[in-house]
Amino acid sequence: MSSLPTVGHLIGGKLITQGERAQDVFNPATGRAEKRVLLAPKATVEDAIANAQAAFPAWRNTPPLKRARVMGNLKVLLEKHAEELCAMITAEHGKVLSDALGELQRGIENVEYASYAPELLKGEHSKNVGPAIDSWSEFQALGVTAGITPFNFPAMVPLWMWPMAVACGNTFILKPSERDPSSTLRIAELALEAGLPPGVLNVVNGDKEAVDTLLTDPRVKAVSFVGSTPIAEYIYATGCAHGKRVQALGGAKNHAVVMPDADVANAVSALMGAAYGSCGERCMAIPLVVAVGDATADAVIAGLKAEISKMKVGPGTAPGMDMGPLVTRPHFEKVKGYVDQGVKEGATLVVDGRGLTVAGHEDGYYLGPCLFDNVKPGMVIYQEEIFGPVLGVVRVKTLQEAMDMIDAHEYGNGTCIFTRDGEAARYFTDNILVGMVGVNVPLPVPVAYHSFGGWKRSLFGDLHAYGPDAVRFYTKRKTITQRWPSAGVREGAVFSFPSSR
Ligand code: NAD
Repeated sequence: MSSLPTVGHLIGGKLITQGERAQDVFNPATGRAEKRVLLAPKATVEDAIANAQAAFPAWRNTPPLKRARVMGNLKVLLEKHAEELCAMITAEHGKVLSDALGELQRGIENVEYASYAPELLKGEHSKNVGPAIDSWSEFQALGVTAGITPFNFPAMVPLWMWPMAVACGNTFILKPSERDPSSTLRIAELALEAGLPPGVLNVVNGDKEAVDTLLTDPRVKAVSFVGSTPIAEYIYATGCAHGKRVQALGGAKNHAVVMPDADVANAVSALMGAAYGSCGERCMAIPLVVAVGDATADAVIAGLKAEISKMKVGPGTAPGMDMGPLVTRPHFEKVKGYVDQGVKEGATLVVDGRGLTVAGHEDGYYLGPCLFDNVKPGMVIYQEEIFGPVLGVVRVKTLQEAMDMIDAHEYGNGTCIFTRDGEAARYFTDNILVGMVGVNVPLPVPVAYHSFGGWKRSLFGDLHAYGPDAVRFYTKRKTITQRWPSAGVREGAVFSFPSSR
């Protein structure tokens, strides 16, 4: 038996810390295992589903304003516990503390938006659709809903999902990433403290076995997923085949176009944060710069080289760090392998971050920032999502060439353009085949009261995550048409189709 603390499940309001299967959770800054996370077998997930099912009738009938108040309480608790939560995120993910705080803040904004559920659920009403006939649409909760989340935002991405789901009257089962599960579970405990009744939100830690149970159990009505594209596609296909509503957000390869008229200094500082922030482990990160014209490319590369030389890489808890380690040893090896591959493919490695060691943290998963020039669309480092601190510059001659390249890529999550030309920016935003677009904004992550989602193979399903789309995703429309005939008035049978002619 391991003596490490266990991260368990939260089912029916109770923490469960005993289980047969478990795996280590590592601190990427040190490379040491610091916790064990339980991996739920089918029976444990079924227990969570039963608890969520039992909690549904009373929660569905709880006035929306009371449900929303829980979200208000939770916002206060999340702010109060911010330091504790960010420490958990950094200890398991590796990102620097200020970045963890940014993630938490974005998550809190989703809780805030969910607290407007009474307003968002008001529905639509039409009086006199026929003589003395009224009609309205209401948005009813689905029942038991589920979410499966990735490692890169252990606090924020779960908060994209369950606060709106439960504010709409559903109950929820969350399956967090097994790589950094602590903050996710702690937030669920805080939700209980905020007044969420037991069983309304359940957390099961686990792997494929847990996910497959959620995807196939008929009691689960809808599944939200965020993670890599191959798994997103599997989740979508399997969930839909089992009659569920599914939204599955996948991977990305976001291009930033830099036009010849752009303010290069400004573009370079924006690109630094977008490429290397959180070690490139963001689905909205910028791993590719498309420079229009060789002069633009040369200026961007010179600027990036100068900025990279000033970057501080080390443990996310140390003050003043710009970048922490990658999340796990296998992921570190994978990202390093992509850098090797880029060199073999003939791209020019301008800055080589391989071989970096951080004194006192020799076993941590540190890779320094890497910069490639002359990346070409046929290369693996162009096509595949690397999810690390590796930025590639592609040289093109025109904006149209840049746009054709972006449109041809399998992913369409985010993109941005740096320019001073309004006409070019408008043409770009209007025509590019990507779901989230920035103009002189490198990470155009929509705020909580818009919705988040990519196009092409970055999202399977129709509705985007959080914001107004989430209200539609977690509810089903029911349209009621009603009349109260006056006593004594009888029309008799009508055989023609009713219309307002
Ligand atoms: P991942 O796909 O490996 O894992 C995501 C979730 O799926 C985890 O909970 C994991 O336990 C589960 N899972 C993994 N393999 C599974 C399998 N075979 N069957 C069933 N479930 C399985 O993703 P990750 O590495 O945790 O996260 C990084 C990925 O997520 C990147 O591709 C990134 O672009 C993507 N991401 C996308 C968005 C977005 O909004 N589009 C946001 C964040 C992250």
